[in-house]
Amino acid sequence: MSDTPQTYDLFIDGSERPAQAGKTFPVYAPATGALLGLVARADAADVELAVASARRAFPTWAGLAPAQRELILLRAADAVEGQRAALVDLLIDESGSTITKARYEVDYSASLLRVAAGEARRLYGDTFPSERPERLSLVVREPLGVVLAIAPFNAPVVLLAKMAVFALAAGNSVIAKPSEETPLSALALAALLARAGLPPGVFNVVTGLGAECGEPLARHPGVAAITFTGSSATGIKIAQIAAAGLRRVQLELGGKNPLLVLRDMDPERAAAIAAPGIFAHGGQICMASARIIAERQVARPFAEALAREAAALHLGDLRDERSAYGPLINQAALAKVTRHVETARAEGAEILTGGAVHSGLTYRPTVLWQPPPQSLVWCEETFGPVASVVAVDDLEQAIAVANDSPYGLSAGVLTNDLSRGLSAARRIRCGAVHVGTHSFHSEALAPIGGLGSLSGIGRSGGKYSVEHFSELKWITLPA
Ligand code: NAD
Repeated sequence: MSDTPQTYDLFIDGSERPAQAGKTFPVYAPATGALLGLVARADAADVELAVASARRAFPTWAGLAPAQRELILLRAADAVEGQRAALVDLLIDESGSTITKARYEVDYSASLLRVAAGEARRLYGDTFPSERPERLSLVVREPLGVVLAIAPFNAPVVLLAKMAVFALAAGNSVIAKPSEETPLSALALAALLARAGLPPGVFNVVTGLGAECGEPLARHPGVAAITFTGSSATGIKIAQIAAAGLRRVQLELGGKNPLLVLRDMDPERAAAIAAPGIFAHGGQICMASARIIAERQVARPFAEALAREAAALHLGDLRDERSAYGPLINQAALAKVTRHVETARAEGAEILTGGAVHSGLTYRPTVLWQPPPQSLVWCEETFGPVASVVAVDDLEQAIAVANDSPYGLSAGVLTNDLSRGLSAARRIRCGAVHVGTHSFHSEALAPIGGLGSLSGIGRSGGKYSVEHFSELKWITLPA
């Protein structure tokens, strides 16, 4: 066996090509530390090529009959499913996903492609009665041009797919900029799209660092719109860049999602429902239920039951279906989780379980009781397997605490009382509220997005994405 690491090129204009400066960066498996490959490290010169390629491809793709775009996206869904095992393997290696999370990601990506394929046919227009009887008014929907999709590391295939496939369905060409932690799955997706018949240049992948290629892409005047999923800090930068160029932008950012546990719930049952919403992928999920707000009657028994659920989670081989989650993405992520837990401990929070490294980059499932309201772990995104539980007097206070956050992505309300559940759902300021389950819930047709300023702007999913990635044009004709 050769010791030479595998190299991965950029994917531009339908073919693989190295970065023009010849630079690469290493990608490691978070679970083992193994070097997975050396990946092309793009800079501004490569950005020029990618934008030129996407601009060239746009008119042909936009000009195809919607049914042809539909067919290619359907074939791409089949291609993704056909390569399920290989994609799952790649996700386990590069993102530290368990086999269960990786399968979910691949299956959800295929489902997004199918939903987007259907949307390609539904770019409806309109007519309206003109004020001038001699004119006929038509309103048609047109694609925007080149869409830049910048993706994070935590669910690298499905989050890129969620941004890209609807843009493609609407007739745009796409440049994908994956996270530098997880570029390999984006390159695999590009190969599958090409195999499904996507013309060269319609979907390009530029790998590299945010500052070196992400930012030049975002600033490029040839990019018509930007869709970004990632941290709130980077999202703010992207919004500023988009504003400077007056470009359309959609931002899916961080969360510090509330889960309300109301007094009618059996604590054991509530804990069993809550646990997957907190600990899936080690809490590296934007919609993770990190802030748990429980009515006092059930709060402590619930927290103790949750601690038992957490302590019983199996942390083992990522390819073992029993494994609940694996490593955090890198050392910096582990340091952040440790800092949040340790400062909460010093500030008086009780650690009911966890609060330490399990092994390598894997942190033990952790449940904190009553961290102070100003603590990092309560206020900032931890992005780790850490749940904080606080007790409140009643539903009013629960809603007030839930809304006391600059985030507003997703929420859950655990209750059997639908009237109290609906009342909470209407008043919690989040882009989504799920009654009867936790906050980690995503579907291809749903409008996903944040309400709080740090959770982003705009909605993605189904027809909402297609509306975002197209623009209305008013045409008049002689009547
Ligand atoms: P990140 O912001 O560090 O990076 C995201 C992407 O932005 C990467 O591709 C990175 O290379 C790129 N980037 C960084 N700096 C850039 C710059 N100056 N210009 C252009 N691009 C730049 O985020 P991350 O750590 O990869 O992802 C985790 C974050 O993503 C968490 O905050 C999580 O909540 C959020 N997230 C949100 C959603 C959602 O749907 N709301 C979904 C998943 C993840």
